[in-house]
Amino acid sequence: MIGVYGGTFDPIHYGHLRPALEIYQRLALTQIRFIPARNPPHRGIPSASAEQRMAMLRLAIEGQPGFVADDRELRRPGPSYMVDTLRSLREDFPDQPLALILGLDAFLGLPGWNRWEQLPDLAHLIVSRRPGCRSRWPEPLEPFVRSRMVGEPRELNTGPEGRLLFLDTVQLEISATAIRTQIAEGDDPRFLLPDTVLDYIRREGLYGIV
Ligand code: ATP
Repeated sequence: MIGVYGGTFDPIHYGHLRPALEIYQRLALTQIRFIPARNPPHRGIPSASAEQRMAMLRLAIEGQPGFVADDRELRRPGPSYMVDTLRSLREDFPDQPLALILGLDAFLGLPGWNRWEQLPDLAHLIVSRRPGCRSRWPEPLEPFVRSRMVGEPRELNTGPEGRLLFLDTVQLEISATAIRTQIAEGDDPRFLLPDTVLDYIRREGLYGIV
């Protein structure tokens, strides 16, 4: 099974990387494809360019077996809809199930995603629980969770897609927003993200570094 981890990654940090590694190991995934959004539909324009976010991603995952930087959303014009991304992955990997990995906050926002009901036709959903997030389901998610949730990773094998699994991963209270703010205010965000990524941010003068 291939993990699919989408995000803005502006910049990528340990709050992304560590839960991803835990999911990679617990589900024995063949790989996790990190896919930066070119044009995230739900938020403002990222501070770093697509190329810079991709470069930071490559630096962050360098040397980690199974972690792959995938630039398909950056090459696709228009908004980056996950449903289109999963379809294109299905074409590239017709014989391997896909597992879409989401933080709990992203899962709670799922009903706002373009054609979100189609996502389970294309992939399993793996939700890593993130600190500080509620877990009462807004209305459209309630029946979704009830009908699709499985309790154990092995139950994902009962079908090629469409199951929903919550996995508790390490809780790291890190966000890209906080990192950008710290940098803009002249604070050092070291140890929240890989040193190689921070060096790149400094070299490129990203996020208003002083
Ligand atoms: P921003 O602060 O700019 O909104 P972010 O740090 O939340 O960024 P994104 O790139 O927007 O990161 O998130 C991509 C995915 O990573 C989402 O599914 C999100 O839920 C998850 N994620 C982000 N931070 C964490 C964290 N600290 N722990 C677990 N999952 C996280």
